[in-house]
Amino acid sequence: MFKKYGFKTTKELEVKATKENYAVGAFNFNNLEQILGIIKAAAELNSPVILAASHGATKYAGTIFLVHLAIAAKKKFPNVEMALHLDHGLDFSKCKECIDLGFSSVMIDASKYPLEENIKKCKEVVEYAHKFGVSVEGELGRLYGVEDEVNVSEAESAMTDPKEAEIFIEKSGIDSLAISIGNSHGLYKTDNPFIDFERLKEIKDCVSTPLVLHGASGIPEDSIRKACKIGISKVNIDTECRLAFRREIDKFIHSNPFDDHKPITYDPRKILTPALESITEVIKMKIKWFGSGNKL
Ligand SMILES: [Zn+2]
Repeated sequence: MFKKYGFKTTKELEVKATKENYAVGAFNFNNLEQILGIIKAAAELNSPVILAASHGATKYAGTIFLVHLAIAAKKKFPNVEMALHLDHGLDFSKCKECIDLGFSSVMIDASKYPLEENIKKCKEVVEYAHKFGVSVEGELGRLYGVEDEVNVSEAESAMTDPKEAEIFIEKSGIDSLAISIGNSHGLYKTDNPFIDFERLKEIKDCVSTPLVLHGASGIPEDSIRKACKIGISKVNIDTECRLAFRREIDKFIHSNPFDDHKPITYDPRKILTPALESITEVIKMKIKWFGSGNKL
């Protein structure tokens, strides 16, 4: 289904990134302003990009709206290589719905289950997705933090075991692996979160499948660059874009308060344009860190 829209799979983008030692950014969108903010940054820097819609986003906007926003993005910027990806799909039926409507890749997040159950759930999605050439991301280990419908306490979180990763990939047939190496969803408690680069190297030595870093908002530039150099091929950013969006709306509202004596600006385009532009700025910075600029 997705091929007629001109989308690439995340696997295609990741394999090229792996070979050339950079990472492709996956940025979340739920609406027009976010997808415009993302695609403008990618087009300006000639970077491939992964348009990520979470399970929660499909509930918010409706999957069909998200697909058509992505189709419009591709039509408007035909030179930009892009994938439309389901982020944190929680069950087979959500993955199937996205595949049937035109997503080029899906993530099935069964990381809360024991290994065998995780494998089983991923395999079910892989068998369906691969019939249509759609690529599948799985997750092993559990990231601390909150993202949409995923909520993991510190006690429940767990780092990815390299040997288990090898078994997981072989048995499930997934195309890329999201790993837990100290990264976490949402806001970090510290400015310099601990990233276990040794573990990343060990995982990289055990598997040839592209590796994905979730929860990368708030990880400083040098750590991101180092992770990409060692072998991360896809980096997910959501929180930093959301924060920039929120900050700009706050600024706008505060500088345009309701006042009985003055006309009020109530045009959503005026309110949301600075927020959209702030997303573009955040993403341009991330693309530079990931090294994906001029890779089209
Ligand atoms: Zn995530």
